[in-house]
Amino acid sequence: MKNLINIKYWIFDLDNTLYSGQTKVFSEVDKKMSAFISRKMSVDLIKAKEIQKKYFYEYGTTLSGLMKQDDIDPHEFLEFVHDIDISWLPKDIKLKEELIKIKEKKYIFTNGSHAHVKNVTKQLGIDGLFDGAFDIVDANFVPKPHADPYKKIIKKFNIDPSKSILIEDIAHNLEQAKKIGMKTCWLENEEAFAKKDANKPYIDYKIKSLPSFLQEINILKAA
Ligand SMILES: [Mg+2]
Repeated sequence: MKNLINIKYWIFDLDNTLYSGQTKVFSEVDKKMSAFISRKMSVDLIKAKEIQKKYFYEYGTTLSGLMKQDDIDPHEFLEFVHDIDISWLPKDIKLKEELIKIKEKKYIFTNGSHAHVKNVTKQLGIDGLFDGAFDIVDANFVPKPHADPYKKIIKKFNIDPSKSILIEDIAHNLEQAKKIGMKTCWLENEEAFAKKDANKPYIDYKIKSLPSFLQEINILKAA
């Protein structure tokens, strides 16, 4: 943990990382994806869900599959699926306090959209605390875990990977981060897909809670 006090670039995944997966925020997005596919392809929700998951596992995101197989307009998709009401999501005071204490650069790296970043961070009370966000449009619709967006985010924000860390709930998304020289941190969770690579050697740190982890680092830095 001690060598993390020298990190200059903190890179956070958004969904199920900046908020706990137990909040079910992402299920709202998930439901909208099924609804979108159901409408576009005139199939029932059960069939739509099947297509959605098949694409997710095959292409990294459902959107990638829809673009490759069905010629879907990505902007229409993103706008529809991220239009969710999460006013029930409580503010995360502890996360806010710890993020404020981190004076180095902080970025969000997501397979979602900028609108979703805004909606979620605002609701959590942590909007305005980041130096930037990199979304799926910035990635030219090539999602994590493909190598491409990792190279792009570094370029966009002039990040030195050897002084950075990526924090993620999907273990497999940490592989490329490690390859380009970042430290990697997996947020423990019980979702089968997210945890299937949790024991891979490219994972440097495993944590149970993001706010508590940041608090620990901030205490070390202050000492
Ligand atoms: Mg995530």
